[in-house]
Formats: sequence, C-alpha cells, structure tokens
Amino acid sequence: MKTTSYDFATNPLTETDQQRFWAKVQKTNTCWLWVGACMMNGYGLLTIHGKNMLAHRMAYYLINGVMTEKYLCHSCDVRNCVNPAHLTPGTQHDNMKNIYQSGRKWHGKPSDEQKVQRTCLNCSSIFMRTVTIHRKELEPLCSPNCRKEWNRRDIAEQFWSHVDRSNPDSCWNWQGRLHRNGYGQIGFRSRDRLAHRFAWRLVYGNIPPGLHILHSCDNPSCVNPTHLSIGTRSENMQDASRKGRTYAPMRGLKGELNPFSKLTNLQRQEIRDRHAQGESYGMLAKAYGLGKTTIARIIKS
Ligand SMILES: [Zn+2]
Ligand SMILES: [Zn+2]
Ligand SMILES: [Zn+2]
Repeated sequence: MKTTSYDFATNPLTETDQQRFWAKVQKTNTCWLWVGACMMNGYGLLTIHGKNMLAHRMAYYLINGVMTEKYLCHSCDVRNCVNPAHLTPGTQHDNMKNIYQSGRKWHGKPSDEQKVQRTCLNCSSIFMRTVTIHRKELEPLCSPNCRKEWNRRDIAEQFWSHVDRSNPDSCWNWQGRLHRNGYGQIGFRSRDRLAHRFAWRLVYGNIPPGLHILHSCDNPSCVNPTHLSIGTRSENMQDASRKGRTYAPMRGLKGELNPFSKLTNLQRQEIRDRHAQGESYGMLAKAYGLGKTTIARIIKS
C-alpha cells in the first residue's frame, strides 16, 4: 500500500479526524500502540480524506504541530508505536546507524514485530503481546500461570466429556476405555491413566505417593468424586475384604494360593494397576521390595 505525504496546510485536520486518530491509540507506560490497521511491514496506517497516512508520522505532527520531511526513526523498535517521544527525524541511514550504535537488533526483513492488546482467556486481564505476521499466535493467556490454569480447565473439560454427570448422587460410569479389571482408562501425555485416579486429581489435587483411591460404591468404573476416598494400601485391602471383593487366580496355584507367594492377589492386581497407570518396573520393584523380573512376571501374568 502506498502512503502519500499529506498537505496539512491546505487540508487541515478536523477535530473529528483527530478524535478518530487517538481512538486507535493505546497508551502504555512506554509505547503508544497503534491498534488500527497496519501495513504488511508493521507500521500503523490511517486513511484521512482519501489519503493513506503513516500513523506514527501523524502522531508526530499532532503533538509537535509540524510535519517533518525526514524519516522518523523509532528508538523503541516497535513499528506500530506512535509515541512522539520515541520518534526522531533523520535519514534512513541515520536510523540504521542509530540501531547499530545502540546495540539493538535490526529485524532485517520488513513485516516483523507488532505489539497488540489481548484479553487473557483465563483471568480476563488486558495485556500487551508482541506478535509477528509469520508466526502463528498462541491463545491469549497473560502469564505462565494463566496458561497452566487454562490447560487444566481444558483437560478437565475433555475428561468429563466421557462421563454422564446428570445425577450428582449416582455412579458416574466411565464411558471411555475400560481396563480388564473394570477400571476406566484414559490416555494422557502418552500414557494410560486410571480414570478414577484422574478424576480425583482434577477435583482434589495430587495423590501423595503410595496412596490409593478407594471406591465407596465398589464400582471400579465409577469416577464420581463423591464416591472416592483416599487411603493406604492396607485400608484398600480391608475395604476390599469387607466388601467381599476377591480376585480369583487365573490358573494353577498362583498368587496367594501359592504358599510361597509373598504377595496377595490384591497386591498383584495393584501392581498391574499401577503399571497400567504408568509406573515403571523399577519403581514398582522398589515399592514392593521385589526384583524387577518378579514385577515383570506379575504384570504379564
Ligand atoms: Zn515506542
Ligand atoms: Zn491471565
Ligand atoms: Zn460410584
């Protein structure tokens, strides 16, 4: 797009023109950012009486009362900045020299950076962000913390989309994949997680290492947080035996039916669950005081 020099003497700017101009300027503590249309090279643009004007030149004129024929250099390197205090008249050569001497970076190709105003999706605060037309812009989130919270919200939404939560008191059966032991499973960060443990984490936070999530409803596929409680392994086992939950060995004298076995079937099941949830052989071997091969045999049995 071509910009023309504007003859202010014969064609003075009206009050409305000026108001229109300042309405598109977002003043920050440092730069005054042009939030109207921009040229491909990042400079702000405004059409006045059918002529295209560069926004920073216009601002310079409005504040100083005179228009310079010279090139206006940005000391801040922000091309859509229209703060006259950041603009110095010179030649294009001066500008390059200036950039070189101050140790700033010349962004080479035109079309580079632009500061824009965004509203944070998470906390709704307004913040400034530098964008380039080459790079895809990230979702507007003002801080790493807001990004984290937003992602968490997104994960929760995906998780609960697999559950019918219409009745708050009934069991919320996991409608996604089920493990052969009946527990719901969900793939998260390239690992399979147990859905009820995932639900607990979403609602109550992290599960301390070694603790288990117990179902008061005894329905392994249920992910209703009000049916879940946290407990130790022995609590889990007591709970299971109280409810008469048993695990029959698959064949032969395996597991606890084997008098030499160190583990109960419940513990074996638990090892499989924890493995399904992402714990390595090594971690499990340590937790149960067994060799890695034993752990591997249990998981594969
Ligand atoms: Zn500036
Ligand atoms: Zn925020
Ligand atoms: Zn339930």
